[in-house]
Amino acid sequence: MSTPNLLMIPGPIGLSPDVLRALSEPQRGHLDPVFMQRFQSTIKRLRDVFLAPTAQPFVIAGSGTLAMEMSVANLVQPGDKALVVNTGYFSDRIATMLELHGAAVTHVRCEPGDAPPLDEVEKALSSTRFKVMTVTHVDTSTAVLAPVQALAKLARAHGALCIVDGVCSVGGEALEMDAWGVDVAFTASQKALGAPPGLAVLLAGPRAMEAWKARTKPVAAMYLDFAQWLPIHQAYEAGTPSYFATPAVNLISALDVSLGELLGETMPVRVARHQKLAHAARAAWSALGLELLTKRSEVTAHTLSAVKYPAGVDASLVKHVGAQGVNIAGGLHPVLKATYFRVGHMGSTNAGTLLETVGALERALKTAGHRFDAGAGVTAVQRALA
Ligand SMILES: *Cc1c(COP(=O)(O)O)cnc(C)c1O
Repeated sequence: MSTPNLLMIPGPIGLSPDVLRALSEPQRGHLDPVFMQRFQSTIKRLRDVFLAPTAQPFVIAGSGTLAMEMSVANLVQPGDKALVVNTGYFSDRIATMLELHGAAVTHVRCEPGDAPPLDEVEKALSSTRFKVMTVTHVDTSTAVLAPVQALAKLARAHGALCIVDGVCSVGGEALEMDAWGVDVAFTASQKALGAPPGLAVLLAGPRAMEAWKARTKPVAAMYLDFAQWLPIHQAYEAGTPSYFATPAVNLISALDVSLGELLGETMPVRVARHQKLAHAARAAWSALGLELLTKRSEVTAHTLSAVKYPAGVDASLVKHVGAQGVNIAGGLHPVLKATYFRVGHMGSTNAGTLLETVGALERALKTAGHRFDAGAGVTAVQRALA
Protein backbone atom coordinates (compact mmCIF):
# COMPACT_ATOMS: atom_id res chain seq x y z
CA MET A 1 0.00 0.00 0.00
CA SER A 2 1.55 3.32 -1.03
CA THR A 3 1.47 6.20 1.43
CA PRO A 4 -0.75 8.99 0.13
CA ASN A 5 0.45 12.59 0.02
CA LEU A 6 -0.07 14.83 3.03
CA LEU A 7 -3.56 16.32 2.52
CA MET A 8 -3.39 20.10 2.86
CA ILE A 9 -6.44 20.81 0.72
CA PRO A 10 -9.62 22.39 2.11
CA GLY A 11 -11.20 18.97 2.69
CA PRO A 12 -11.13 16.08 2.86
CA ILE A 13 -8.43 16.34 5.49
CA GLY A 14 -6.19 13.73 7.11
CA LEU A 15 -7.80 11.37 9.63
CA SER A 16 -6.55 10.58 13.13
CA PRO A 17 -5.52 7.00 13.98
CA ASP A 18 -8.60 6.51 16.18
CA VAL A 19 -10.95 7.75 13.44
CA LEU A 20 -9.29 5.31 11.03
CA ARG A 21 -9.69 2.49 13.54
CA ALA A 22 -13.40 3.25 13.89
CA LEU A 23 -13.72 2.83 10.12
CA SER A 24 -12.05 -0.58 10.14
CA GLU A 25 -14.46 -2.22 12.59
CA PRO A 26 -16.70 -5.07 11.43
CA GLN A 27 -19.96 -3.90 9.91
CA ARG A 28 -22.80 -3.38 12.40
CA GLY A 29 -26.49 -3.05 11.64
CA HIS A 30 -28.18 0.30 12.08
CA LEU A 31 -30.25 -1.06 14.99
CA ASP A 32 -27.22 -2.55 16.79
CA PRO A 33 -27.03 -1.24 20.38
CA VAL A 34 -23.37 -0.23 19.97
CA PHE A 35 -24.24 1.88 16.94
CA MET A 36 -27.29 3.28 18.72
CA GLN A 37 -25.01 4.49 21.50
CA ARG A 38 -22.64 6.11 18.98
CA PHE A 39 -25.39 7.90 17.09
CA GLN A 40 -26.77 9.12 20.42
CA SER A 41 -23.32 10.36 21.42
CA THR A 42 -22.81 12.05 18.02
CA ILE A 43 -26.07 13.99 18.38
CA LYS A 44 -25.17 15.17 21.88
CA ARG A 45 -21.59 16.04 20.96
CA LEU A 46 -22.72 18.13 17.97
CA ARG A 47 -24.61 20.47 20.32
CA ASP A 48 -21.34 21.01 22.22
CA VAL A 49 -19.28 21.55 19.05
CA PHE A 50 -21.77 24.10 17.64
CA LEU A 51 -22.33 25.60 21.13
CA ALA A 52 -26.05 25.19 20.57
CA PRO A 53 -27.57 23.48 23.63
CA THR A 54 -31.17 23.85 22.43
CA ALA A 55 -30.67 23.06 18.73
CA GLN A 56 -31.83 19.92 16.94
CA PRO A 57 -28.96 18.13 15.18
CA PHE A 58 -29.49 16.21 11.93
CA VAL A 59 -26.83 13.86 10.53
CA ILE A 60 -27.67 12.31 7.17
CA ALA A 61 -25.66 10.55 4.48
CA GLY A 62 -24.50 13.05 1.89
CA SER A 63 -22.03 15.90 1.53
CA GLY A 64 -22.06 19.53 2.63
CA THR A 65 -24.12 20.41 -0.41
CA LEU A 66 -26.91 18.15 0.88
CA ALA A 67 -26.79 19.89 4.27
CA MET A 68 -27.06 23.20 2.40
CA GLU A 69 -30.11 21.95 0.50
CA MET A 70 -31.66 20.59 3.71
CA SER A 71 -31.52 24.06 5.23
CA VAL A 72 -33.15 25.61 2.17
CA ALA A 73 -35.77 22.90 1.56
CA ASN A 74 -37.06 23.06 5.13
CA LEU A 75 -37.01 26.81 5.77
CA VAL A 76 -38.04 28.25 2.44
CA GLN A 77 -41.24 27.86 0.47
CA PRO A 78 -42.34 29.45 -2.81
CA GLY A 79 -42.89 33.18 -2.42
CA ASP A 80 -40.44 33.68 0.47
CA LYS A 81 -37.72 36.30 0.20
CA ALA A 82 -34.09 35.43 0.88
CA LEU A 83 -31.04 37.63 1.34
CA VAL A 84 -27.66 36.17 0.37
CA VAL A 85 -24.59 37.81 1.90
CA ASN A 86 -22.47 36.85 -1.07
CA THR A 87 -18.76 36.19 -0.57
CA GLY A 88 -18.23 33.88 -3.54
CA TYR A 89 -18.68 30.44 -5.03
CA PHE A 90 -20.59 28.75 -2.20
CA SER A 91 -22.84 31.79 -1.66
CA ASP A 92 -23.80 31.49 -5.33
CA ARG A 93 -24.54 27.79 -4.78
CA ILE A 94 -27.01 28.41 -1.94
CA ALA A 95 -28.60 31.23 -3.96
CA THR A 96 -29.25 28.77 -6.81
CA MET A 97 -30.87 26.36 -4.36
CA LEU A 98 -33.00 29.11 -2.82
CA GLU A 99 -34.32 29.94 -6.28
CA LEU A 100 -34.97 26.28 -7.11
CA HIS A 101 -37.07 26.08 -3.93
CA GLY A 102 -39.11 29.10 -4.98
CA ALA A 103 -37.52 31.97 -3.06
CA ALA A 104 -36.95 35.45 -4.48
CA VAL A 105 -33.24 36.09 -3.88
CA THR A 106 -31.51 39.41 -3.23
CA HIS A 107 -27.70 39.49 -3.09
CA VAL A 108 -25.42 41.83 -1.19
CA ARG A 109 -22.18 41.46 -3.11
CA CYS A 110 -18.64 42.77 -2.89
CA GLU A 111 -15.30 42.32 -4.63
CA PRO A 112 -13.82 38.81 -4.54
CA GLY A 113 -11.57 38.54 -1.49
CA ASP A 114 -13.73 40.77 0.67
CA ALA A 115 -16.97 40.58 2.67
CA PRO A 116 -19.84 43.05 2.12
CA PRO A 117 -19.91 45.97 4.59
CA LEU A 118 -22.38 45.53 7.46
CA ASP A 119 -24.20 48.76 6.65
CA GLU A 120 -25.02 47.48 3.17
CA VAL A 121 -26.42 44.30 4.64
CA GLU A 122 -28.44 46.35 7.12
CA LYS A 123 -29.78 48.55 4.33
CA ALA A 124 -30.93 45.46 2.42
CA LEU A 125 -32.53 43.97 5.54
CA SER A 126 -34.38 47.24 6.16
CA SER A 127 -35.69 47.44 2.59
CA THR A 128 -38.11 44.51 2.83
CA ARG A 129 -39.05 41.59 5.07
CA PHE A 130 -36.75 38.62 4.39
CA LYS A 131 -37.63 35.14 5.65
CA VAL A 132 -33.99 34.05 5.68
CA MET A 133 -30.51 35.53 5.36
CA THR A 134 -27.64 33.24 4.38
CA VAL A 135 -23.98 33.71 5.23
CA THR A 136 -21.01 31.61 4.09
CA HIS A 137 -18.84 31.62 7.22
CA VAL A 138 -15.67 30.77 5.31
CA ASP A 139 -15.95 30.94 1.55
CA THR A 140 -13.62 28.15 0.55
CA SER A 141 -13.18 29.58 -2.94
CA THR A 142 -11.48 32.75 -1.68
CA ALA A 143 -10.69 32.11 2.03
CA VAL A 144 -12.94 35.01 3.03
CA LEU A 145 -14.14 34.88 6.64
CA ALA A 146 -17.52 36.58 7.11
CA PRO A 147 -18.38 38.39 10.39
CA VAL A 148 -21.09 35.92 11.38
CA GLN A 149 -21.69 37.29 14.88
CA ALA A 150 -22.46 40.81 13.66
CA LEU A 151 -24.45 39.56 10.65
CA ALA A 152 -26.58 37.21 12.77
CA LYS A 153 -27.37 40.10 15.10
CA LEU A 154 -28.57 42.21 12.17
CA ALA A 155 -30.72 39.37 10.84
CA ARG A 156 -32.32 38.84 14.24
CA ALA A 157 -33.02 42.56 14.62
CA HIS A 158 -34.85 42.54 11.27
CA GLY A 159 -36.78 39.31 11.86
CA ALA A 160 -34.90 37.15 9.34
CA LEU A 161 -33.67 33.65 10.13
CA CYS A 162 -29.88 33.43 9.89
CA ILE A 163 -28.56 30.38 8.02
CA VAL A 164 -24.79 29.85 8.24
CA ASP A 165 -22.84 27.69 5.80
CA GLY A 166 -20.19 26.50 8.22
CA VAL A 167 -18.78 23.78 5.95
CA CYS A 168 -15.28 25.24 6.00
CA SER A 169 -15.49 26.73 9.49
CA VAL A 170 -17.15 24.50 12.10
CA GLY A 171 -14.40 22.90 14.15
CA GLY A 172 -11.82 25.50 13.13
CA GLU A 173 -13.27 29.01 13.36
CA ALA A 174 -15.12 30.43 16.37
CA LEU A 175 -18.86 29.78 15.98
CA GLU A 176 -21.19 30.17 18.96
CA MET A 177 -24.49 29.28 17.38
CA ASP A 178 -26.74 29.97 20.35
CA ALA A 179 -24.95 33.02 21.80
CA TRP A 180 -24.67 34.67 18.38
CA GLY A 181 -28.31 34.02 17.42
CA VAL A 182 -27.57 31.76 14.44
CA ASP A 183 -30.73 29.82 13.56
CA VAL A 184 -29.29 27.13 11.28
CA ALA A 185 -25.66 26.09 10.83
CA PHE A 186 -24.46 23.20 8.73
CA THR A 187 -21.24 21.47 7.78
CA ALA A 188 -19.88 18.26 6.30
CA SER A 189 -17.89 15.49 7.95
CA GLN A 190 -14.73 15.87 5.84
CA LYS A 191 -13.70 19.44 6.59
CA ALA A 192 -12.60 20.79 9.97
CA LEU A 193 -14.55 18.04 11.78
CA GLY A 194 -11.85 15.57 10.75
CA ALA A 195 -14.01 12.62 9.62
CA PRO A 196 -14.23 11.03 6.15
CA PRO A 197 -16.48 12.55 3.46
CA GLY A 198 -20.07 11.32 3.38
CA LEU A 199 -22.08 13.01 6.15
CA ALA A 200 -24.18 16.15 6.00
CA VAL A 201 -24.47 17.74 9.43
CA LEU A 202 -27.07 20.40 10.24
CA LEU A 203 -28.19 22.01 13.48
CA ALA A 204 -31.50 23.86 13.62
CA GLY A 205 -32.19 26.20 16.53
CA PRO A 206 -35.62 26.71 18.13
CA ARG A 207 -36.66 29.59 15.86
CA ALA A 208 -35.77 27.58 12.77
CA MET A 209 -37.80 24.60 14.00
CA GLU A 210 -40.75 26.95 14.68
CA ALA A 211 -40.48 28.40 11.18
CA TRP A 212 -40.43 24.90 9.72
CA LYS A 213 -43.54 23.93 11.72
CA ALA A 214 -45.29 27.08 10.52
CA ARG A 215 -44.87 26.21 6.82
CA THR A 216 -48.03 26.29 4.78
CA LYS A 217 -46.63 24.22 1.91
CA PRO A 218 -44.99 20.78 2.15
CA VAL A 219 -41.22 20.35 1.93
CA ALA A 220 -40.58 19.43 -1.70
CA ALA A 221 -38.04 16.66 -1.04
CA MET A 222 -38.74 13.58 1.05
CA TYR A 223 -35.13 12.65 1.90
CA LEU A 224 -34.42 16.19 3.14
CA ASP A 225 -37.61 16.74 5.11
CA PHE A 226 -37.13 17.43 8.84
CA ALA A 227 -40.48 15.61 9.28
CA GLN A 228 -38.82 12.33 8.21
CA TRP A 229 -35.62 12.79 10.19
CA LEU A 230 -36.75 14.50 13.39
CA PRO A 231 -38.41 11.38 14.88
CA ILE A 232 -35.39 9.27 13.89
CA HIS A 233 -32.90 11.58 15.59
CA GLN A 234 -35.15 11.89 18.64
CA ALA A 235 -35.44 8.10 18.80
CA TYR A 236 -31.69 7.46 18.62
CA GLU A 237 -31.07 10.17 21.18
CA ALA A 238 -33.60 8.51 23.50
CA GLY A 239 -31.87 5.14 22.99
CA THR A 240 -34.55 3.58 20.78
CA PRO A 241 -33.20 3.16 17.23
CA SER A 242 -35.73 3.63 14.50
CA TYR A 243 -35.76 3.53 10.70
CA PHE A 244 -36.56 5.97 7.91
CA ALA A 245 -33.55 5.56 5.58
CA THR A 246 -30.38 3.62 6.41
CA PRO A 247 -27.93 5.80 8.33
CA ALA A 248 -24.25 5.74 7.32
CA VAL A 249 -23.35 3.47 10.24
CA ASN A 250 -19.56 3.41 9.77
CA LEU A 251 -19.25 7.11 9.01
CA ILE A 252 -21.32 8.11 12.02
CA SER A 253 -19.11 5.90 14.22
CA ALA A 254 -16.03 7.65 12.80
CA LEU A 255 -17.63 11.08 13.26
CA ASP A 256 -18.42 10.28 16.88
CA VAL A 257 -14.73 9.54 17.47
CA SER A 258 -13.58 12.74 15.74
CA LEU A 259 -16.13 14.85 17.65
CA GLY A 260 -14.81 13.30 20.87
CA GLU A 261 -11.32 14.42 19.84
CA LEU A 262 -12.53 17.96 19.10
CA LEU A 263 -14.25 18.26 22.46
CA GLY A 264 -11.26 16.68 24.20
CA GLU A 265 -9.12 19.51 22.83
CA THR A 266 -12.00 21.90 23.78
CA MET A 267 -13.47 24.34 21.28
CA PRO A 268 -11.71 27.50 22.54
CA VAL A 269 -8.29 25.77 22.48
CA ARG A 270 -9.01 24.37 19.02
CA VAL A 271 -10.03 27.77 17.65
CA ALA A 272 -6.92 29.38 19.16
CA ARG A 273 -4.72 26.65 17.62
CA HIS A 274 -6.22 27.31 14.18
CA GLN A 275 -5.59 31.03 14.60
CA LYS A 276 -1.98 30.49 15.63
CA LEU A 277 -1.28 28.14 12.72
CA ALA A 278 -3.02 30.46 10.27
CA HIS A 279 -0.86 33.36 11.41
CA ALA A 280 2.25 31.20 11.03
CA ALA A 281 1.13 30.25 7.52
CA ARG A 282 0.56 33.93 6.66
CA ALA A 283 4.02 34.77 7.97
CA ALA A 284 5.43 32.14 5.59
CA TRP A 285 3.52 33.42 2.52
CA SER A 286 4.72 36.94 3.25
CA ALA A 287 8.35 35.83 3.80
CA LEU A 288 8.22 34.11 0.40
CA GLY A 289 6.98 37.30 -1.27
CA LEU A 290 3.49 35.91 -1.87
CA GLU A 291 0.23 37.86 -1.58
CA LEU A 292 -3.14 36.73 -0.28
CA LEU A 293 -6.34 36.87 -2.30
CA THR A 294 -8.19 38.19 0.75
CA LYS A 295 -8.12 41.96 1.06
CA ARG A 296 -7.94 42.46 4.83
CA SER A 297 -6.81 40.38 7.79
CA GLU A 298 -10.25 40.77 9.48
CA VAL A 299 -11.82 38.88 6.56
CA THR A 300 -9.09 36.23 6.25
CA ALA A 301 -10.00 32.70 7.30
CA HIS A 302 -7.98 30.56 9.71
CA THR A 303 -8.93 27.23 8.16
CA LEU A 304 -7.25 27.83 4.79
CA SER A 305 -5.17 30.36 2.84
CA ALA A 306 -5.82 31.58 -0.72
CA VAL A 307 -2.46 32.72 -2.10
CA LYS A 308 -1.74 34.42 -5.44
CA TYR A 309 0.82 32.88 -7.79
CA PRO A 310 3.83 35.19 -7.99
CA ALA A 311 4.86 36.66 -11.36
CA GLY A 312 6.08 33.97 -13.74
CA VAL A 313 4.48 31.07 -11.81
CA ASP A 314 1.30 29.34 -12.97
CA ALA A 315 -1.12 26.67 -11.81
CA SER A 316 1.42 23.91 -12.51
CA LEU A 317 2.84 24.84 -9.10
CA VAL A 318 0.06 22.79 -7.47
CA LYS A 319 1.27 19.67 -9.32
CA HIS A 320 4.90 20.36 -8.45
CA VAL A 321 4.06 20.73 -4.75
CA GLY A 322 2.19 17.43 -5.08
CA ALA A 323 5.34 15.82 -6.47
CA GLN A 324 7.05 16.91 -3.22
CA GLY A 325 4.54 14.83 -1.23
CA VAL A 326 2.02 17.50 -0.25
CA ASN A 327 -1.41 18.06 -1.81
CA ILE A 328 -2.57 21.65 -2.04
CA ALA A 329 -5.48 22.94 -4.16
CA GLY A 330 -5.83 25.25 -7.13
CA GLY A 331 -8.16 28.25 -7.26
CA LEU A 332 -11.96 27.86 -7.30
CA HIS A 333 -13.37 31.34 -7.90
CA PRO A 334 -14.91 31.25 -11.40
CA VAL A 335 -13.09 34.37 -12.63
CA LEU A 336 -9.83 34.31 -10.64
CA LYS A 337 -9.14 30.60 -10.36
CA ALA A 338 -6.04 30.59 -12.56
CA THR A 339 -4.39 33.28 -10.41
CA TYR A 340 -4.12 31.64 -6.98
CA PHE A 341 -3.80 28.41 -5.02
CA ARG A 342 -5.26 27.26 -1.72
CA VAL A 343 -3.68 25.59 1.27
CA GLY A 344 -5.93 24.03 3.91
CA HIS A 345 -4.72 24.22 7.49
CA MET A 346 -7.51 22.74 9.51
CA GLY A 347 -8.26 19.81 11.76
CA SER A 348 -5.13 18.01 12.86
CA THR A 349 -2.74 20.45 11.12
CA ASN A 350 0.19 21.15 13.41
CA ALA A 351 3.68 22.66 13.36
CA GLY A 352 5.10 19.56 11.67
CA THR A 353 2.59 19.37 8.81
CA LEU A 354 2.73 23.12 8.24
CA LEU A 355 6.55 23.03 8.03
CA GLU A 356 6.38 20.08 5.65
CA THR A 357 3.94 22.01 3.47
CA VAL A 358 5.92 25.25 3.41
CA GLY A 359 9.10 23.28 2.70
CA ALA A 360 7.48 21.50 -0.27
CA LEU A 361 6.12 24.81 -1.54
CA GLU A 362 9.57 26.41 -1.29
CA ARG A 363 11.16 23.63 -3.36
CA ALA A 364 8.42 23.86 -6.00
CA LEU A 365 8.67 27.68 -6.12
CA LYS A 366 12.45 27.48 -6.60
CA THR A 367 12.00 25.06 -9.49
CA ALA A 368 9.43 27.44 -11.01
CA GLY A 369 12.01 30.26 -10.92
CA HIS A 370 10.47 32.38 -8.16
CA ARG A 371 13.19 34.28 -6.28
CA PHE A 372 13.36 34.27 -2.48
CA ASP A 373 15.84 33.28 0.24
CA ALA A 374 15.71 29.51 0.56
CA GLY A 375 14.28 28.62 3.97
CA ALA A 376 12.63 32.01 4.48
CA GLY A 377 9.13 30.51 4.67
CA VAL A 378 10.15 27.69 6.99
CA THR A 379 12.00 30.17 9.23
CA ALA A 380 8.94 32.42 9.38
CA VAL A 381 6.79 29.50 10.50
CA GLN A 382 9.34 28.57 13.17
CA ARG A 383 9.53 32.15 14.45
CA ALA A 384 5.72 32.49 14.52
CA LEU A 385 5.26 29.23 16.43
CA ALA A 386 8.22 29.57 18.82
C1 LIG B 1 -16.89 22.28 0.75
C2 LIG B 1 -17.94 23.32 0.95
C3 LIG B 1 -19.28 23.12 0.58
C4 LIG B 1 -19.73 21.90 -0.15
O1 LIG B 1 -19.49 20.75 0.57
P1 LIG B 1 -19.42 19.34 -0.19
O2 LIG B 1 -19.18 18.39 0.94
O3 LIG B 1 -18.28 19.44 -1.15
O4 LIG B 1 -20.72 19.14 -0.85
C5 LIG B 1 -20.19 24.12 0.85
N1 LIG B 1 -19.81 25.26 1.45
C6 LIG B 1 -18.53 25.49 1.80
C7 LIG B 1 -18.20 26.76 2.48
C8 LIG B 1 -17.56 24.53 1.56
O5 LIG B 1 -16.30 24.75 1.92
